[in-house]
Amino acid sequence: MRIDILTLFPDMCNTVMSESIIGRAQKKGVIDVRCHQIRDYTYDKHNRVDDTVYGPGMGMLMMAEPIALCFEDLCEKLNKRPYFIYMSPQGRTLTQKRVKELSSYENIAILCGHYEGVDERFIEEFVDEEISIGDYVLTGGELPALVLADSISRMVPGVLSDNECFEKESHYNGLLEYPQYTKPAVWRGKNVPEILLSGHHANIEKWQKQQSLIRTKSKRPDLLNEPKLSKEDK
Ligand code: SAM
Repeated sequence: MRIDILTLFPDMCNTVMSESIIGRAQKKGVIDVRCHQIRDYTYDKHNRVDDTVYGPGMGMLMMAEPIALCFEDLCEKLNKRPYFIYMSPQGRTLTQKRVKELSSYENIAILCGHYEGVDERFIEEFVDEEISIGDYVLTGGELPALVLADSISRMVPGVLSDNECFEKESHYNGLLEYPQYTKPAVWRGKNVPEILLSGHHANIEKWQKQQSLIRTKSKRPDLLNEPKLSKEDK
């Protein structure tokens, strides 16, 4: 899978995407994340990417043309048009379900806005989907784009050592994950639950399922209204 990030701060995105699990997956060639400097597509001597907003009010807005040129150049280089997402607080809030769907795409391009955002005409003309990472506003789309790129990348087969890593995790099946423990078995007087030391796999799995349901009910009861739950779970 290839993800292209269109941004005014490519170093910020490159740094994050070249570290840890995602960095290793890129070295293995399982995913390919590239960052593109929108400023390289400006056409005046000051390399302007933004201008004042029409109408009353303050602030600067990213101009449509440099982003359009950047995206068109990308399409030409790829010889195809990637699915194009604009990170925006006005978009649909990102969910694990959407992340999973997007991980099956071969090419995704992500636009990071800045300042007051992006000229509306660009969004109308080019963007396939707007995605928000939550109901709050950040200074730029780089952190949201990295959240999206990371969450999608880890769903791509071969990025994590085993698919089980994400299949048991919170939100994958509509529930929160059960509590987990590591060594030592006793830490500051607190014991790891007895069942986990029993070696009885079937009982451990039953306990984990129960814990998953109990913690979802206490931390995120809204998730239990999802129709995905079986009769027994309910
Ligand atoms: N004026 C815009 C509005 O009120 O909808 C907000 C612009 S924000 C200051 C600048 C950029 O940060 C946006 O263009 C977007 O790319 C990004 N951004 C900010 N908050 C975000 C969020 N919650 N989810 C996704 N992107 C966000």
